[in-house]
Amino acid sequence: MKKIAIIGGGISGLYLANLLRKNSSYEITIYEKNNSVNLEKGYGIQLSVNSIKLLNEIGFQNINLEDKFHPNKVDFYSLKNKKKICDLNISVFNNIEAKYTTLQRFTLINFLKNKLPDNFINYNKKVTKIDYEDDNIEVTFENSASIECDYLVISDGTFSKSKSLIAKKEIKPKYFKSIALRATIDRNSIKGIDPNNISLSLGSNLHSVSYPIDKKGQFNFVSILRKKLSINELFDYSLFDRSDFISSILSEISKQIDPDIIKNLKDIRCFPVFVSSEIHQPINKNTFLIGDAFFAFPPTFAQGASQSIEVVHELYKNLENEDNQFNVERIERTKMIDRKSKFNYFVFHLSNPLLAWIRNTVMKYLVKNNKFINSYLGKIYKN
Ligand SMILES: Cc1cc2nc3c(=O)[nH]c(=O)nc-3n(C[C@H](O)[C@H](O)[C@H](O)COP(=O)(O)OP(=O)(O)OC[C@H]3O[C@@H](n4cnc5c(N)ncnc54)[C@H](O)[C@@H]3O)c2cc1C
Repeated sequence: MKKIAIIGGGISGLYLANLLRKNSSYEITIYEKNNSVNLEKGYGIQLSVNSIKLLNEIGFQNINLEDKFHPNKVDFYSLKNKKKICDLNISVFNNIEAKYTTLQRFTLINFLKNKLPDNFINYNKKVTKIDYEDDNIEVTFENSASIECDYLVISDGTFSKSKSLIAKKEIKPKYFKSIALRATIDRNSIKGIDPNNISLSLGSNLHSVSYPIDKKGQFNFVSILRKKLSINELFDYSLFDRSDFISSILSEISKQIDPDIIKNLKDIRCFPVFVSSEIHQPINKNTFLIGDAFFAFPPTFAQGASQSIEVVHELYKNLENEDNQFNVERIERTKMIDRKSKFNYFVFHLSNPLLAWIRNTVMKYLVKNNKFINSYLGKIYKN
């Protein structure tokens, strides 16, 4: 029996354990540093059809219909003149089995966790050391306890410490010079939008996204604001929880976003956006990186979780075929999605009024151009 240790119980680690447990020749354990998986309620997540198809392999289609939503379009609005620019039909990539889905992050994590036997997850296990000897991998935790395994899968997120441990050098994600403000809002508090779609409002150095996260009228609201932070601010972890800091971000975004929306936001959280600057492929034997530890994308294509799911699925296939590294296509695909996410960020945040007008005019044409849609979105959604 092959022993597989998975570091981190987020979306990636939990999905991998769900896939691997179908094969009885694996003994799988997830080591999670916290005393539970993160089941915080309120936050939304978008999953495009490329990942829904893969999640359906473990029964995702059976989750309660009330707990998910299938938006048909992305409606683009200008924050400057409060008018709709155009809409993009994302449902063209749907099929009977897999539809673009928005839901609470909690619903996805709870689904992944509940399908695993309780003894699969070992809590309070923060990895501090990883050693390789002959055919064995030894993983040591904060309390000095250690385990041995045949395969090590690292899924400890954007700030992966395990990635630095195996590379024997510090690998840090890069600050994307933006702050994300996340919140929930009731459908009745957002006026002038189509509640069946994703609303994407473009402003100057800022954009905001709102979408339903269930069929009960709950909406997720995210605003991404371009903002430089000093080194001291970036390393002051308490800063982002402080009410004076959150108030200052709210006051900055309220210069462009309807004050009625700001007033009705609940469960507000702020955090700096960090992204990967390069792809790391471990050279260590039987060691793999997945999810945000493999590559953290800018949030402007909403592909973080969907890509995590794709990469996990590919690793699952590789393990079955005893392949040790992701193939060239995976690396190229990751780079392509990173480029498109950065391009979206640039386009969404244009501050020059003339450039914004040109963008709006071009967008009206492009969203109706099937060739463009198939190339820009289809290459990602139709994997
Ligand atoms: C603003 C914003 C909006 C987003 N919106 C979307 C969206 O709409 N759609 C989408 O697809 N994606 C979105 N994402 C990205 C998505 O949330 C992530 O890509 C995804 O959650 C990655 O999952 P993961 O399991 O790799 O990492 P994580 O969810 O970060 O899980 C890592 C786990 O590892 C544990 N851990 C950390 N260190 C250790 C250690 N040393 N030892 C043991 N355990 C450890 C942590 O406690 C955690 O449980 C968004 C991201 C941002 C920033």
